[in-house]
Amino acid sequence: MNNNSLLSHRKEEPENGILYIVGTPIGNLNDISQRALNILQNVSLVACEDTRQTKKIMNKFNISNKLISFNKHNSLVKIPKILKDLKEGKSIAIVSDAGMPGICDPGEDIARRVKSEGIDMICVPGACAAITALVSSGLPSSSFVFEGFLPKKKIDREKILSEISKNEKTTIIYESPKRLRKLLNELLELCGGDREIIVARELTKKFEEHVGNNINKVIEFFRDKDIIGEITIVIKGKRKGDFNPDKSIIKKDLIDLIDAGLSLSSASKYLAKKNGLKKSEVYNLI
Ligand code: SAM
Repeated sequence: MNNNSLLSHRKEEPENGILYIVGTPIGNLNDISQRALNILQNVSLVACEDTRQTKKIMNKFNISNKLISFNKHNSLVKIPKILKDLKEGKSIAIVSDAGMPGICDPGEDIARRVKSEGIDMICVPGACAAITALVSSGLPSSSFVFEGFLPKKKIDREKILSEISKNEKTTIIYESPKRLRKLLNELLELCGGDREIIVARELTKKFEEHVGNNINKVIEFFRDKDIIGEITIVIKGKRKGDFNPDKSIIKKDLIDLIDAGLSLSSASKYLAKKNGLKKSEVYNLI
């Protein structure tokens, strides 16, 4: 089969092959689209984050094709090879282990390169945990912020968490089950216990669960539980007058920072920024 015939809606067939970015399920294999299966069957090769994961889909739907591994560890070597194949007229599909490639998964770099080389690229949309969690959260979903995984480095993490606490839009975060408790406590400190939040666990899978209410109640729910599975968190945006940060905690932080050697002015400035307050409000706490 001519690979370019996959691009059925275009009038002129390009000389280069086409890169198909193919969304796959985030748990329930039946969420794969017929079009995705068609592409996976008919391209020259499928570049997979982990060939074992992709084989599960291929086997379930009785399709076979050449699979190569394409992930963050080998992308520097693989991207030039994929570009060469595309320029030779081969069409290639990129898939990640789950969901949409490029969304916290390999795919972003190759998409940028392919675009800059003027090669055709088509996305075959599939499931995405962020969108699935957002839509099922019942929180405002027409305008939102997706943060992916938060940085681990303290200073970067604090900056993003502070932004999230002040943002008026719904925010979506990916988090590992091991770090969920820590994240919930960080959100409690910055957003207050009343902020609405939904923890979506194991979306589309057998033990799918949506734990939601406010931050206090979600923390309580997970208090004595083993937290396992895949997790996406949806946080309601801040409304005016929503949260009065706990001034006693801020006062304690202020004293700690001054004890550690910071001036009252610098410590107040730092804590004001962190808590979304005016510097004078912190300064006047002591
Ligand atoms: N590319 C994927 C997408 O489109 O959603 C995301 C890949 S990212 C490496 C994996 C993270 O997505 C998980 O750690 C979790 O936060 C979230 N995730 C993936 N599948 C999920 C599911 N079934 N339920 C809840 N969250 C999920």
